[in-house]
Amino acid sequence: MSSVFHRIPKRHLPVAVKGDGMYIFDRDGKRYIDGYAGGACVSCLGHSQQEVIDAIRHQVGEMAFFHAGMFTSEPLEELASILTTDAPEGLTRVFFTNSGSEAVETAIMMARQYFVEVGDPRRKKVIGRRSSYHGAGLTGLSVGYQVARRTPFEDISPSVFHISPCYEYRGRLEGETPEQYGLRTANELEQAILGLGPESVMAFVAETVTGTTSGATPPVPGYFKRIRDICDKYGVLLILDEVFCGLGRTGTLHACEQDGVAPDFLTFAKGIAAGYQPIGATMVNQKIYDAIVGGSGTFKGGYTYSGHATACAAAVAVQKILRAPGFLDHVKATGNVLAAQLKDRFAQHPHVGDIRGRGMLMTLELVENRETKAPFPAALGLSSKIYQSAQAKGLITHAQSGTVDGHVGDHVVICPPLIAAQEN
Ligand code: PLP
Repeated sequence: MSSVFHRIPKRHLPVAVKGDGMYIFDRDGKRYIDGYAGGACVSCLGHSQQEVIDAIRHQVGEMAFFHAGMFTSEPLEELASILTTDAPEGLTRVFFTNSGSEAVETAIMMARQYFVEVGDPRRKKVIGRRSSYHGAGLTGLSVGYQVARRTPFEDISPSVFHISPCYEYRGRLEGETPEQYGLRTANELEQAILGLGPESVMAFVAETVTGTTSGATPPVPGYFKRIRDICDKYGVLLILDEVFCGLGRTGTLHACEQDGVAPDFLTFAKGIAAGYQPIGATMVNQKIYDAIVGGSGTFKGGYTYSGHATACAAAVAVQKILRAPGFLDHVKATGNVLAAQLKDRFAQHPHVGDIRGRGMLMTLELVENRETKAPFPAALGLSSKIYQSAQAKGLITHAQSGTVDGHVGDHVVICPPLIAAQEN
């Protein structure tokens, strides 16, 4: 009997023993197609990238770890330089964490420290969106809105105000264009800021393309431009969380490039070292860096393993592959094929209400009734049944129950490793 406290102990978990490209093999020799990139977009380069394995071996042989408060290192400096060279405008500095949850928490802590340093300590309120996931710590759970996970902890979490997500399939009114819908939804941020008092609001946090709570849900055109304008108008910092959708997944290096905005903070994790090592990052603009460094001189957050040399070495190798000529073109082209094939096979399906996504991050939203968009009842546990039946057939995918203000249906998220060939 296992003494591991698995997160979902009742789920049957095969014992994974080997990964090879798009495939995972269990101890019984069964092969699985990895349709979820190692669990939530992490293994974006598949499971056997030799350059990454070699980089890790080399770094461990030289020096596996040092404390980044006492030394810097070549892989740490090189990784920061790669990430900042082609970052969205203004993001000139990068702070390393161990995970996406810590990357988001770091951004929120830096935002708060920024306002304290510049003598505006009244700004402490955070606004998030219903239907989003920003990590499993108390801060991430409270900013995010994955109801089942956050509810038990609400009483001990920081309080956060939430506005509607940009979720066209469920939110756009009849007769409204996508642009009008985007504007109306983004304007909720302005109303929230005015309601809370602009002088008290510190940051707005959003996933550029949501990954988990309502499946892959890209924003409509213009939505984030309006969000950026509102943040600028009221001096609110914009934190975009690209832990799930960043670093190539949507066909561009950063998802927000396609929305024409640059945030004040951009968070990453999964795609940085492609699961070969655990690492996350918070990119930050020069204004924030200057205020903290020119003020008290020290960022008050940080972790023992921040800037772990072996994790950074793995990430350098991964980031070079992502930026190799033709790689992102391949992702874009394969994403187009994936979208076309999903539409070809499922657009007429009586229980597929929506097919959406961006690049190689796609979702099928399942409904009981296509006309009314009524979801299957949550009690049916459809997502879990789909997950189990795909797994039994050798396909790892992610099916989940979507929530905004309650169950909004079941979603199947498809995000294979970015190396997937189009004929696979
Ligand atoms: N932010 C987003 C958008 C995520 O999808 C996740 C994880 O799925 C996180 C943050 C938390 O990342 P981690 O699980 O590495 O802590």
